[in-house]
Amino acid sequence: MATVAEPLDLGAMVPRPFSVARRKRETSDTWTLELEPVEGEPLDVAPGQFTMLYAFGIGEVPISVSGAAGGPLVHTVRDVGAVTSAICSSRPGTVLGVRGPFGNAWPVEPATGADVVIVAGGIGLAPLRPAAYHVLANRDAYGEVAVLYGSRTPADLLYARELERWRSRFDLQVDVTVDRALDGWRGKVGVVPKLIASARFDPDNAVAMVVGPEIMMRFVGEALLESGIPADRVYVSMERNMRCGLGHCGHCQLGPTLICRDGPVYRWDEIQPLMEVREL
Ligand SMILES: Cc1cc2nc3c(=O)[nH]c(=O)nc-3n(C[C@H](O)[C@H](O)[C@H](O)COP(=O)(O)OP(=O)(O)OC[C@H]3O[C@@H](n4cnc5c(N)ncnc54)[C@H](O)[C@@H]3O)c2cc1C
Repeated sequence: MATVAEPLDLGAMVPRPFSVARRKRETSDTWTLELEPVEGEPLDVAPGQFTMLYAFGIGEVPISVSGAAGGPLVHTVRDVGAVTSAICSSRPGTVLGVRGPFGNAWPVEPATGADVVIVAGGIGLAPLRPAAYHVLANRDAYGEVAVLYGSRTPADLLYARELERWRSRFDLQVDVTVDRALDGWRGKVGVVPKLIASARFDPDNAVAMVVGPEIMMRFVGEALLESGIPADRVYVSMERNMRCGLGHCGHCQLGPTLICRDGPVYRWDEIQPLMEVREL
């Protein structure tokens, strides 16, 4: 039987101009940008979604929203290539193109009443920060809440001041580790999965949300399952390369799924078998 392709939403193909309102350096290669629409309404973004961010004349890349839902559009970007370098060096007043928001959301609503375990590696804390903001803004609606975070070195930790503020809260467990300690680091040294054993949560009533390099997510997923959290309550965000953001170009296809259309947030039991497929 012939199938008819869904009509392409041309509006979603056109970037909207947003102006850089503020730019803050997080680490040697990572910046947080606050963007304002040049005209019209701000974006309505759910925790976990991303936009396609366009540096005019250079290119467009998917970048997760790292700010609170309902607030200004905030992105945290690591300079790894031509486009991210242009975005990171955009000073206040620079106009960037924004398409989206795209993708699904972290299960912050279904997790109501449960313990929440947020596990991040490196820049992975950026897409998880909106979920943490949601949980903290509705703190009474959740049980135990843990943020477990690891980076290569202490100098690579994102949102260092915010982490300190979070650490001082009695209703939030924050545990941080680094791969390599530098002078003056008095915290933990080791890989993120090791933090899971000492976090307080009830595995029968916990939801875990994880982002980091895929190798890290594999080990964290296994450690969470070992801790007793069922695979269908572990969620990861897949950050594979993509182009259109609309499910049309097929660039982000992973087995039967298109990450931009069906993800980027997936349940562990759905995505773990597909993580064996190498990046195209
Ligand atoms: C849904 C989603 C959300 C993302 N959110 C963020 C974010 O919040 N902050 C952020 O800094 N980056 C994020 N990324 C990654 C970001 O899109 C890439 O770093 C960017 O596309 C690189 O483009 P470039 O032109 O600067 O570098 P390129 O020259 O295209 O790439 C530089 C190097 O990075 C590698 N690379 C490119 N894209 C990726 C990727 N997706 N994952 C791993 N390696 C990659 C390339 O293979 C190459 O080695 C996200 C990606 C996805 C798919």
